[in-house]
Amino acid sequence: MNIIVLMKQVPEIEKVRFDYEKGRLDRSSAGAVTNPFDLNALEAAVQIKERAGGSVTAISMGPMQAIEMLRDALARGADKAILLSDERFAGADTLATAYTLATAIKKLGAFDLVICGEKTVDGDTAQVGPEVAEFLGIPHAAYVEEIREINAKWIVVKARMEQSDYILKLSLPALITVTKDINVPRLPTLRDKLKAMRAPITIWTYDDLSQVADQKYFGFEGSPTRVIKVFTPVTGGRRGQMISGSPEEIAAKIVHILRENKILG
Ligand SMILES: Cc1cc2nc3c(=O)[nH]c(=O)nc-3n(C[C@H](O)[C@H](O)[C@H](O)COP(=O)(O)OP(=O)(O)OC[C@H]3O[C@@H](n4cnc5c(N)ncnc54)[C@H](O)[C@@H]3O)c2cc1C
Repeated sequence: MNIIVLMKQVPEIEKVRFDYEKGRLDRSSAGAVTNPFDLNALEAAVQIKERAGGSVTAISMGPMQAIEMLRDALARGADKAILLSDERFAGADTLATAYTLATAIKKLGAFDLVICGEKTVDGDTAQVGPEVAEFLGIPHAAYVEEIREINAKWIVVKARMEQSDYILKLSLPALITVTKDINVPRLPTLRDKLKAMRAPITIWTYDDLSQVADQKYFGFEGSPTRVIKVFTPVTGGRRGQMISGSPEEIAAKIVHILRENKILG
């Protein structure tokens, strides 16, 4: 079973600051860690490999410092790691990110399963996984908290969406995004860490991918969304008002207040 895990390096969220002028995260203000949900994705992939055989390839799009995260992924059981890194991938929104990742997956050749985290702790959109599935033309299930069955042809998962649980059967190849409830990520041993330090990490640049994709969909230029303005919403200055009486009296007073403030016609 050939499994691909998509992993993103994120800033330590409690330390990160916002660049309000540029409308972006100022990533230089904090250290970098693996997006926690992506560790669950990797663990799920390694567990499948341990049961069914095959290989796990970790792919990330990001700056060169993401090599550190990919080394950690190798120490935790990935067999191969690929970093997509080029200035021309920078400034990508979720669509351009997903396009770049899907292009790399296509370039790799045949695969059975792609596993992503449910979301990142910085961008937090939860869009990239489903978008990658669309670019690859394969079925996907989001918010998977249990893999019930997997064989060469299909995977059965339990996914949670709002108040409901779904049992979904997807034919392979497919993509799933996983929650933190799916497993407890293993810690790498010292031996595995040392081995990973010497392991090669493949770097693919714009030139590697532009041969197999449409260049205009990469990076900032390929991103259809633009951050116009970033600001902290003003929440202060609101005055609470206690209303007492019978339920009918309270309802009448609320209607009166809403009419007075022209919120209700
Ligand atoms: C409108 C808009 C503009 C943006 N502009 C910029 C910008 O100018 N500069 C900038 O640095 N960022 C920018 N971002 C953030 C950047 O687009 C996102 O970080 C990136 O697209 C991933 O989205 P996300 O973090 O919400 O991932 P999610 O969709 O929440 O991630 C889900 C899963 O997808 C996978 N995944 C996501 N990203 C990657 C990745 N890079 N590599 C491997 N796997 C991944 C992981 O498995 C992850 O758990 C912008 C975002 C938006 C919405």
